[in-house]
Amino acid sequence: MRLVMASANPHKVAEIAAILTSVGDETLEVLPRPADLADVVEDGETLLDNARLKAVAVCEHSGAASVADDTGLEVDALGGAPGVRSARYSEDVEGEGNATDATNLAKLLAELSAGGHDDVATRTARFRTVALVRFLDGREVRADGVVEGHIAHDPTGNAGFGYDPVFIPAEGDGRSFAEMTDEEKNAISHRGRAFRQLATLLAATP
Ligand code: IMP
Repeated sequence: MRLVMASANPHKVAEIAAILTSVGDETLEVLPRPADLADVVEDGETLLDNARLKAVAVCEHSGAASVADDTGLEVDALGGAPGVRSARYSEDVEGEGNATDATNLAKLLAELSAGGHDDVATRTARFRTVALVRFLDGREVRADGVVEGHIAHDPTGNAGFGYDPVFIPAEGDGRSFAEMTDEEKNAISHRGRAFRQLATLLAATP
Protein backbone atom coordinates (compact mmCIF):
# COMPACT_ATOMS: atom_id res chain seq x y z
CA MET A 1 0.00 0.00 0.00
CA ARG A 2 1.18 3.53 -0.79
CA LEU A 3 0.10 6.52 1.27
CA VAL A 4 0.86 10.15 0.49
CA MET A 5 1.30 12.36 3.55
CA ALA A 6 -0.67 15.60 3.88
CA SER A 7 1.95 17.11 6.19
CA ALA A 8 4.97 18.89 4.76
CA ASN A 9 6.79 18.98 8.11
CA PRO A 10 9.78 16.60 7.62
CA HIS A 11 10.00 15.84 11.35
CA LYS A 12 6.33 14.86 11.49
CA VAL A 13 6.57 12.88 8.24
CA ALA A 14 9.48 10.80 9.55
CA GLU A 15 7.76 10.20 12.90
CA ILE A 16 4.46 9.15 11.31
CA ALA A 17 6.10 6.97 8.65
CA ALA A 18 8.09 5.18 11.37
CA ILE A 19 4.96 4.47 13.43
CA LEU A 20 2.87 3.31 10.46
CA THR A 21 5.53 0.92 9.22
CA SER A 22 6.69 -0.44 12.60
CA VAL A 23 3.29 -1.01 14.22
CA GLY A 24 1.44 -1.99 11.09
CA ASP A 25 2.35 -3.16 7.63
CA GLU A 26 6.12 -3.25 6.96
CA THR A 27 5.52 -3.05 3.22
CA LEU A 28 3.63 0.21 3.54
CA GLU A 29 5.22 2.99 1.50
CA VAL A 30 4.77 6.50 2.89
CA LEU A 31 5.46 9.28 0.41
CA PRO A 32 6.06 12.94 1.25
CA ARG A 33 3.51 15.63 0.47
CA PRO A 34 3.76 16.73 -3.19
CA ALA A 35 5.81 19.94 -3.26
CA ASP A 36 3.51 21.57 -5.83
CA LEU A 37 0.35 21.10 -3.78
CA ALA A 38 -0.88 24.47 -2.48
CA ASP A 39 -1.58 24.95 1.23
CA VAL A 40 -5.02 23.71 2.21
CA VAL A 41 -7.24 26.24 3.99
CA GLU A 42 -8.01 24.56 7.30
CA ASP A 43 -11.36 26.20 8.02
CA GLY A 44 -13.27 23.14 9.20
CA GLU A 45 -15.28 23.26 12.42
CA THR A 46 -13.69 20.14 13.88
CA LEU A 47 -10.33 18.38 13.87
CA LEU A 48 -11.88 15.64 11.73
CA ASP A 49 -13.15 18.22 9.20
CA ASN A 50 -9.64 19.69 8.89
CA ALA A 51 -7.88 16.33 8.65
CA ARG A 52 -10.37 15.34 5.94
CA LEU A 53 -9.90 18.62 4.01
CA LYS A 54 -6.15 17.91 3.87
CA ALA A 55 -6.60 14.23 3.00
CA VAL A 56 -9.05 14.93 0.17
CA ALA A 57 -6.77 17.61 -1.31
CA VAL A 58 -3.83 15.18 -1.32
CA CYS A 59 -5.91 12.32 -2.80
CA GLU A 60 -7.18 14.54 -5.59
CA HIS A 61 -3.74 15.92 -6.35
CA SER A 62 -1.76 12.69 -6.18
CA GLY A 63 -4.31 10.11 -7.31
CA ALA A 64 -3.27 7.94 -4.37
CA ALA A 65 -4.51 7.18 -0.86
CA SER A 66 -3.48 9.78 1.69
CA VAL A 67 -2.80 10.12 5.39
CA ALA A 68 -3.61 13.32 7.30
CA ASP A 69 -4.00 14.52 10.86
CA ASP A 70 -5.12 17.53 12.83
CA THR A 71 -4.40 18.42 16.44
CA GLY A 72 -5.87 20.79 18.99
CA LEU A 73 -5.14 21.78 22.59
CA GLU A 74 -8.33 21.80 24.67
CA VAL A 75 -8.16 23.86 27.86
CA ASP A 76 -11.11 23.20 30.19
CA ALA A 77 -11.13 26.64 31.85
CA LEU A 78 -11.36 28.22 28.39
CA GLY A 79 -14.31 26.10 27.29
CA GLY A 80 -12.11 23.84 25.15
CA ALA A 81 -10.22 26.68 23.41
CA PRO A 82 -7.97 26.98 21.52
CA GLY A 83 -9.11 23.57 20.15
CA VAL A 84 -9.47 23.46 16.39
CA ARG A 85 -8.02 27.00 16.26
CA SER A 86 -4.78 26.06 18.07
CA ALA A 87 -2.48 27.10 15.21
CA ARG A 88 -4.27 30.44 14.74
CA TYR A 89 -5.27 31.19 18.34
CA SER A 90 -3.65 34.64 18.56
CA GLU A 91 -4.66 35.85 15.10
CA ASP A 92 -7.25 38.15 16.67
CA VAL A 93 -4.38 39.97 18.43
CA GLU A 94 -1.61 39.63 15.83
CA GLY A 95 -3.61 39.84 12.60
CA GLU A 96 -4.50 37.10 10.14
CA GLY A 97 -1.55 34.92 9.20
CA ASN A 98 0.65 36.38 11.95
CA ALA A 99 0.04 33.91 14.78
CA THR A 100 3.23 32.12 15.86
CA ASP A 101 3.92 29.47 18.49
CA ALA A 102 5.21 32.25 20.77
CA THR A 103 2.18 34.55 20.36
CA ASN A 104 -0.26 31.63 20.74
CA LEU A 105 1.45 30.52 23.93
CA ALA A 106 1.51 34.09 25.31
CA LYS A 107 -2.22 34.49 24.61
CA LEU A 108 -2.99 31.17 26.32
CA LEU A 109 -1.15 32.18 29.50
CA ALA A 110 -2.75 35.66 29.43
CA GLU A 111 -6.28 34.23 29.06
CA LEU A 112 -5.79 31.84 31.97
CA SER A 113 -4.35 34.59 34.11
CA ALA A 114 -7.14 37.05 33.17
CA GLY A 115 -9.71 34.43 34.12
CA GLY A 116 -8.11 33.99 37.55
CA HIS A 117 -7.23 30.36 36.83
CA ASP A 118 -4.10 30.30 38.95
CA ASP A 119 -4.71 27.05 40.79
CA VAL A 120 -3.21 24.07 38.94
CA ALA A 121 -6.46 22.16 39.42
CA THR A 122 -8.24 24.73 37.25
CA ARG A 123 -5.67 24.52 34.43
CA THR A 124 -6.47 21.03 33.14
CA ALA A 125 -6.08 20.47 29.40
CA ARG A 126 -5.53 17.83 26.78
CA PHE A 127 -4.02 17.50 23.34
CA ARG A 128 -6.23 15.65 20.88
CA THR A 129 -5.17 14.35 17.47
CA VAL A 130 -7.45 12.98 14.79
CA ALA A 131 -5.60 10.89 12.19
CA LEU A 132 -7.08 9.43 9.07
CA VAL A 133 -6.25 7.49 5.96
CA ARG A 134 -8.45 8.25 2.98
CA PHE A 135 -8.70 5.97 -0.04
CA LEU A 136 -9.56 7.10 -3.55
CA ASP A 137 -13.06 5.60 -3.34
CA GLY A 138 -13.84 7.77 -0.28
CA ARG A 139 -13.42 5.04 2.34
CA GLU A 140 -11.63 6.19 5.49
CA VAL A 141 -9.83 4.64 8.44
CA ARG A 142 -9.88 7.01 11.43
CA ALA A 143 -8.26 7.08 14.85
CA ASP A 144 -7.80 9.58 17.62
CA GLY A 145 -5.32 10.02 20.43
CA VAL A 146 -5.49 12.05 23.63
CA VAL A 147 -3.00 13.01 26.33
CA GLU A 148 -4.28 14.64 29.53
CA GLY A 149 -2.34 17.22 31.49
CA HIS A 150 -2.34 20.81 32.69
CA ILE A 151 -1.02 24.19 31.62
CA ALA A 152 2.00 25.41 33.60
CA HIS A 153 2.31 29.06 34.70
CA ASP A 154 5.65 29.51 32.93
CA PRO A 155 7.22 27.88 29.86
CA THR A 156 10.07 25.40 30.43
CA GLY A 157 12.25 23.44 27.99
CA ASN A 158 13.49 24.01 24.45
CA ALA A 159 12.44 20.84 22.65
CA GLY A 160 9.28 20.30 20.62
CA PHE A 161 7.07 23.07 19.28
CA GLY A 162 3.73 24.80 19.73
CA TYR A 163 2.38 24.66 23.28
CA ASP A 164 4.94 22.04 24.43
CA PRO A 165 6.75 24.37 26.90
CA VAL A 166 3.58 24.85 28.99
CA PHE A 167 1.99 21.41 28.69
CA ILE A 168 2.66 19.11 31.66
CA PRO A 169 1.37 15.61 30.88
CA ALA A 170 -0.42 13.91 33.78
CA GLU A 171 1.43 10.65 33.08
CA GLY A 172 4.86 12.24 33.30
CA ASP A 173 7.17 13.29 36.12
CA GLY A 174 6.29 16.99 36.15
CA ARG A 175 8.39 17.98 33.15
CA SER A 176 6.77 19.78 30.22
CA PHE A 177 6.66 18.16 26.78
CA ALA A 178 9.43 20.60 25.78
CA GLU A 179 11.71 19.09 28.44
CA MET A 180 11.30 15.54 27.11
CA THR A 181 13.16 13.66 24.40
CA ASP A 182 11.22 12.85 21.22
CA GLU A 183 11.05 9.25 22.38
CA GLU A 184 9.59 10.15 25.79
CA LYS A 185 7.03 12.47 24.25
CA ASN A 186 5.99 10.08 21.45
CA ALA A 187 5.37 7.26 23.94
CA ILE A 188 2.51 9.16 25.59
CA SER A 189 1.60 11.87 23.10
CA HIS A 190 -1.72 12.48 21.37
CA ARG A 191 -0.08 12.06 17.94
CA GLY A 192 1.84 8.92 18.92
CA ARG A 193 -1.37 7.36 20.27
CA ALA A 194 -3.50 8.36 17.28
CA PHE A 195 -1.02 7.01 14.74
CA ARG A 196 -0.31 3.77 16.61
CA GLN A 197 -4.07 3.13 16.70
CA LEU A 198 -4.35 4.11 13.02
CA ALA A 199 -1.54 1.70 12.13
CA THR A 200 -3.27 -1.15 13.95
CA LEU A 201 -6.62 -0.42 12.26
CA LEU A 202 -4.93 -0.08 8.89
CA ALA A 203 -3.16 -3.43 9.24
CA ALA A 204 -6.55 -5.04 9.85
CA THR A 205 -8.18 -3.30 6.86
CA PRO A 206 -8.67 -5.55 3.80
P1 IMP B 1 -1.39 20.46 13.60
O1 IMP B 1 -2.79 20.07 13.31
O2 IMP B 1 -0.51 19.28 13.92
O3 IMP B 1 -0.82 21.38 12.57
O4 IMP B 1 -1.43 21.29 14.97
C1 IMP B 1 -2.15 22.50 15.10
C2 IMP B 1 -1.53 23.33 16.20
O5 IMP B 1 -1.64 22.63 17.45
C3 IMP B 1 -0.03 23.59 16.02
O6 IMP B 1 0.19 24.76 15.30
C4 IMP B 1 0.45 23.73 17.45
O7 IMP B 1 0.20 25.03 17.92
C5 IMP B 1 -0.46 22.80 18.21
N1 IMP B 1 0.18 21.46 18.37
C6 IMP B 1 -0.04 20.35 17.63
N2 IMP B 1 0.68 19.32 18.08
C7 IMP B 1 1.39 19.81 19.12
C8 IMP B 1 2.35 19.20 19.99
O8 IMP B 1 2.70 18.02 19.90
N3 IMP B 1 2.85 20.01 20.94
C9 IMP B 1 2.51 21.32 21.07
N4 IMP B 1 1.65 21.92 20.29
C10 IMP B 1 1.08 21.17 19.31
